[in-house]
Amino acid sequence: MSKDGKVRVRFAPSPTGALHIGGAHTALFNWLWARRSGGTFILRIEDTDALRSTAEYEDTIMAGLKWLGLDWDEGPDIGGEAGPYRQSERMDLYRKYADQLLESGLAYREDDAVIFKTPVGVNLVLDDAIYGEIKIQSEKASMSPDGSVKDIVIIKRDGMPTYNFAVVVDDHEMDINWVIRGEDHISNTPKQMLIYRALEWETPNFAHLPMILGKDKKKLSKRHGATSVFEYNDMGYLPDSVFNFLALLGWAPGGGVEIFDRGTAAKSFELSKVIKKPAVFDMDKLNFVNQEHLKIMDPAIKKKIVEPFWAELGLHPEKHSEQYLMDALTLMGARGRTTNELAMFSDYFVDFSPVKERYDASEISPEQRDTLKKFFALFMSIPKWKSQEMEAFARNWCETNGASLKEIALPLRWALTGRKVSPGVFEVAQLLGPDECRLRLKHFNFLD
Ligand code: GLU
Repeated sequence: MSKDGKVRVRFAPSPTGALHIGGAHTALFNWLWARRSGGTFILRIEDTDALRSTAEYEDTIMAGLKWLGLDWDEGPDIGGEAGPYRQSERMDLYRKYADQLLESGLAYREDDAVIFKTPVGVNLVLDDAIYGEIKIQSEKASMSPDGSVKDIVIIKRDGMPTYNFAVVVDDHEMDINWVIRGEDHISNTPKQMLIYRALEWETPNFAHLPMILGKDKKKLSKRHGATSVFEYNDMGYLPDSVFNFLALLGWAPGGGVEIFDRGTAAKSFELSKVIKKPAVFDMDKLNFVNQEHLKIMDPAIKKKIVEPFWAELGLHPEKHSEQYLMDALTLMGARGRTTNELAMFSDYFVDFSPVKERYDASEISPEQRDTLKKFFALFMSIPKWKSQEMEAFARNWCETNGASLKEIALPLRWALTGRKVSPGVFEVAQLLGPDECRLRLKHFNFLD
């Protein structure tokens, strides 16, 4: 237990790549467990692989965590009582405890390496918070391919500690009382338990998180799509949605609730409720979650998030007022599963140019054009530029002139949006304003 009995957890990435989905999932569950109970979430950088670890990767991992809204209380950037938080800066500690094991005869030297003698006949019980009780004999904790007992390298010939050793020293020294990590580490845990035992340290609680599989039930990899969290940002997924979606990989707050924010998740999170069955990474589910978050998102924040996506389409949102853009997004409602799609589907609110690219009114016959011209001449002089007035006027006119509303509304929608589907066409017209509508209708020669 930590000094005050509070939860102390850590996320311990190796800075040898960007923050990928599996890492983000592990970080998130650690964060939830800490935040649920007012505990401490620690970021520790496991950079003992000097060749593959870089400062850039460390930065992108931190940026990825921040993007997801996972803040840490101690870490290499902010320090803390249990620092330093990079393994490369903790070499003295590993050396010290390796010496201790050498002195007590529990380890030996071979060449320049230090090797821990795997004991025989010790019954280990791993009481995993998610996987339940796992019993294992010490000699089975570390085995050679031929089935013989294999001793465990703790310091390599180059003087660097191995993962299984450094992780034990650090988790002990940092007072970590819950080790929450991916299921792929479950085979390492008995080895680590042997080292805790040899150093006469109390073992922390363990929880191994379910594996994440692709829809084809194979381990999640590049083949299944984007793996780094920032790729999801570029694809138009909100951090809130990715957080929500990752939390659902193995856990749910209960009562059928699937859409939640960080605070709600942190309040109701329970490690014992995490299922050990592998979780399936389902893009349809992510799209659904993202769309739900887009629906409930504050329009001002939504506008800020969508703006760069409009700009990327070559549009000019900066020429509009903030209120106008917010109103456009509000009118868009739940259209678009991603911010990308939302920006695309609402492009006509920002600029007229994409409308012209999509539509040329070539399907309109000369007779239809005559009708449209008659109608729009009157339509444009409606005294109150309000969608209800426009609709009432249009219905009335169609009735009197023996036309159907569709004959008017379809060309109007095409002329204003260049799309077959959009929010209510009169609402679109209201928001675009009479001047812009006039310009667009004239362009297509629906108005003189
Ligand atoms: N550096 C290890 C990894 O990235 C940490 C594993 C652990 O949490 O013990 O897989």
